[in-house]
Amino acid sequence: MIDQYDRNINYLRVSVTDRCNLRCTYCMPKEGIAWIGHEAILSYEEIGRIIRIAADEGITKVRITGGEPLVRKGVVEFIASLQGIRSLNDISLTTNGILLESCAERLYAAGIHRINISLDSLKADKYREITRGGELESVLAGIRKAETTGFSPIKINIVAIKGINDDEILDFARLSLAHPYQIRFIELMPLGKASSENDGRYLANSVVKERIAALGALEPVDGRANNASDGPARIFRLSGGAGEIGFISPVSRHFCQSCNRLRLTADGHLRACLLSDEERDLKTPLRAGASNEEIGAIIRETIARKPKEHGVSCDESHIRKCVKEMQAIGG
Ligand code: SAM
Ligand code: SF4
Repeated sequence: MIDQYDRNINYLRVSVTDRCNLRCTYCMPKEGIAWIGHEAILSYEEIGRIIRIAADEGITKVRITGGEPLVRKGVVEFIASLQGIRSLNDISLTTNGILLESCAERLYAAGIHRINISLDSLKADKYREITRGGELESVLAGIRKAETTGFSPIKINIVAIKGINDDEILDFARLSLAHPYQIRFIELMPLGKASSENDGRYLANSVVKERIAALGALEPVDGRANNASDGPARIFRLSGGAGEIGFISPVSRHFCQSCNRLRLTADGHLRACLLSDEERDLKTPLRAGASNEEIGAIIRETIARKPKEHGVSCDESHIRKCVKEMQAIGG
């Protein structure tokens, strides 16, 4: 579906749960959050129905996310059930990797072949600090398992945080020399209550890129350094590297003009913009017996109201913080 700014909205990110086995400092506030009640979370049947209707409206790509999607029971079977939707040509997953080792093969068999794994430190104690208790070795085992299982591409997402993990930028970049991973640096976004705990920690990707240049020239990959594909990521390769390096810069370099996304939250709301709190309730009409046509109309209306751009910029005095936590939206 083409929106009023000529963007083709064909990508739906689906949060299957707000729950998570980690508490990353930039994603959740220190005191934790109240989980959404079981009844308020969409069932797999409800999510599947929305995805089918969205596919009829022009969605061709779906990413399963959370919270942590792998903590929801039955997620692999749910993913397998999406394979029958003919107009979907891409189903992928974003995970923190903690539970990946044990389910990588089943996920692959269920039809997920592309995976994004979030990893913000290669040091066990630092990883524990950022995630408030996570075990680095579990994620590394998950990444190794994803590689031997045949997932491709494997994208590793790092949120670069000033004074916390910016001393590891080169270590992460070096991973792309030896492994066929796409190492992606994501700028810290001010979201929810966690944003006030991270004041002053934003690091622009221009700085990250400059530091990586110490390892050698960053060669643009096939014109993908300029939003040509890969969604919002700008993709480079260190000379001779097996993998790639990507930069996702939602704060310093808005990619709103090419944003093709919609988001379905775990509690059944449709968001047209990650950084705007405007959302449409799909769950209430769904549970009140709305027809596919009525649900489709809400999807079309949400797309029609997709904002031209978000208001977040690196000038902190202009930062507009969205109220919902990232883990409740799905990233
Ligand atoms: N739990 C899964 C994970 O961590 O990959 C999936 C959900 S998580 C909300 C999706 C992505 O959002 C992760 O890559 C995470 O690093 C990113 N994220 C969360 N909060 C963020 C923030 N404030 N700024 C930038 N990225 C953020
Ligand atoms: Fe959980 Fe992912 Fe948020 Fe970390 S970023 S707390 S792993 S949802």
